Amino acid sequence: MITSTVPAWQAEFATAVQDPAELLRRLKLPADTCDLAKDAGGFPLRVPICYIARMRKGDPHDPLLRQVLPTTAESAGKPGYSRDPVGDGDATMAPGILHKYQGRVLLITTGACPIHCRYCFRRHYPYGGSNSAGNKWETAVDYIAADESVHEVILSGGDPLSIADDRLSVLAEALQHIPHVKRLRLHTRMPVVIPSRVDPHLLEWLGECTLGKVVVVHVNHPCELDDSTGEAIRRLAGTGATLLNQSVLLKGINDNPDTLAELSEALFLNGILPYYLHQLDRVEGASHFAVPEMKSLELMDNLRIRLPGYLIPRLVREKAGMPYKLPRVTAIPAH
Ligand SMILES: *Cc1c(COP(=O)(O)O)cnc(C)c1O
Ligand code: SF4
Repeated sequence: MITSTVPAWQAEFATAVQDPAELLRRLKLPADTCDLAKDAGGFPLRVPICYIARMRKGDPHDPLLRQVLPTTAESAGKPGYSRDPVGDGDATMAPGILHKYQGRVLLITTGACPIHCRYCFRRHYPYGGSNSAGNKWETAVDYIAADESVHEVILSGGDPLSIADDRLSVLAEALQHIPHVKRLRLHTRMPVVIPSRVDPHLLEWLGECTLGKVVVVHVNHPCELDDSTGEAIRRLAGTGATLLNQSVLLKGINDNPDTLAELSEALFLNGILPYYLHQLDRVEGASHFAVPEMKSLELMDNLRIRLPGYLIPRLVREKAGMPYKLPRVTAIPAH
């Protein structure tokens, strides 16, 4: 018998659809219904087949499809939109290390993602210029070891779970040996996009990691969650990690109170609490996803009417140079 040594998730990663025509064929959509971009601006389509399976066939407005399909709207330049909207360049303190906030550093572990989200604020990030994206983390680990104020390390990217578990376990162990590091956080879409990623190899090193563990997944719409993601998330929870979600507020995808309330409820059923709801970072190519400030505040007020406080995400806007992500609270004046 031939047994494959390639984990199932790597096969799903490798067979992601990259041809827009193929995606539309699978969804039984005529190409002319979708404003398909001729040129994806150096950020090509990428979407795994198991994620496509959660899209509605024949619906050009499907909220999962809209997150991944390159459309003509992306080429509309807009003032205020740039290639580095949140000042990542200025916050780079060592190769792959973004140090913006007190006590926490973010490590760009890789440029690879299982899915390409059209609104991604790092869609133009120069991953090639950062050593850590080539999986060379020594200088990054040295930086963290040398700064005793760092208590939490966030593995980000790209998607850190695009990296094989033998490499991740080495990194986690190196971080665990730094006395001032108390917590390890993963920012990942993988458990939702390719649920088979949460396999015994991942569970083994994460389960063994003695740091405080937080996994922040990224779900924007309740239709992204199904039985397969539920299973994956339950397995993750078994490692003792605290599970949180971050979303981006996206016009035409989740900018209505029904969808956001349903999302919070669905997350809770999966053992995940809402963390951040990000106002769109003004990245070139994504201006058509922006939701006006006043509308987003009214959405939050509407959610507060419907849901208990623990199911309300924090609406935030990231502003370059600020010491935290700025809370955006309510449309109701205090006086
Ligand atoms: C968002 C972010 C963090 C995490 O911020 P929290 O408010 O702790 O979630 C840390 N570092 C960088 C560079 C970030 O962009
Ligand atoms: S998974 Fe995250 S980092 Fe990757 S494209 Fe989507 S938003 Fe960007």
